[in-house]
Amino acid sequence: MIPEPLLQTRQLGDLTLHAIQAGGQRLDGGAMFGVVPKPLWEKRMPADERNRIQLGMRCLLVEHPAGLVLIDTGAGNKEDEKFLSIYGIENAGADGRTRLEDGIRDAGFAPGDIAIVINTHLHFDHAGGNTYVGPDGKVRPSFPNARYIVKRGEYDYATHPNERTGASYFDRNFMPIVAEHKFEFVVREKEIVKGIRAVPTPGHTPFHQSVLIESKGERAFFLGDLVPTHAHLPLPWIMGYDVEPLVTLETKRRILRQAEDEDWLVVFEHDAEVAWGRVQHDGKAYRLRAEE
Ligand SMILES: [Zn+2]
Repeated sequence: MIPEPLLQTRQLGDLTLHAIQAGGQRLDGGAMFGVVPKPLWEKRMPADERNRIQLGMRCLLVEHPAGLVLIDTGAGNKEDEKFLSIYGIENAGADGRTRLEDGIRDAGFAPGDIAIVINTHLHFDHAGGNTYVGPDGKVRPSFPNARYIVKRGEYDYATHPNERTGASYFDRNFMPIVAEHKFEFVVREKEIVKGIRAVPTPGHTPFHQSVLIESKGERAFFLGDLVPTHAHLPLPWIMGYDVEPLVTLETKRRILRQAEDEDWLVVFEHDAEVAWGRVQHDGKAYRLRAEE
């Protein structure tokens, strides 16, 4: 199933935000919820006959006076049928590209218009669309006029994989960017353009980052894999994929408290249904607040 809609648009102060659903992905429900027992998680997200749950791969496009900013790039068009089947990826778009490019087009733009790409991290379902393979078989940057921003530590981590981490990192998703000198590495919290800030949120990977967007006193926060779906809002609901789950726990505690205190609009990258919302602690756990 391909999660819909492709494009959801809203204002944040003076900025226009486009949530682009760059495709569907189905992953093992047990792996997605870590130590949470199935009878609990399947009430929130039902599993298919192969125990997989339906996820999305949502990217965020921000219309900013300094240029278009794209956060994460989905899974790209370079993987073969077997790979797509294992991960339940359905992301084919028009013209041999992906639904990300379709969504950018529906928002009124083209890949060449993107000025800045921010990667939360370099896993294949977040950075796979950094590059694309053309009909000639050559892999190129998907956004030829963009600089790509990633944490220096994440890049080092991706290029020195081990037996546990290697299955998520493919050179073809970042080496063509390196070859064209388009990466810009950040080492700590940094304002990329006015009001758009890369914020370290370690745990899923040691150098994972999220993105805080601010305009006219309103704030949005692209969580990335810190809280992949709204079902992951309770603090101990942490993915089995996380390499440092106890670090994720402390990052979630800090970030979700701030999200509630400052009324952030949080954006869920992997949620097949809920693009964004505001969070509230109900005395027991964090959850989505009903929109007024
Ligand atoms: Zn990841």
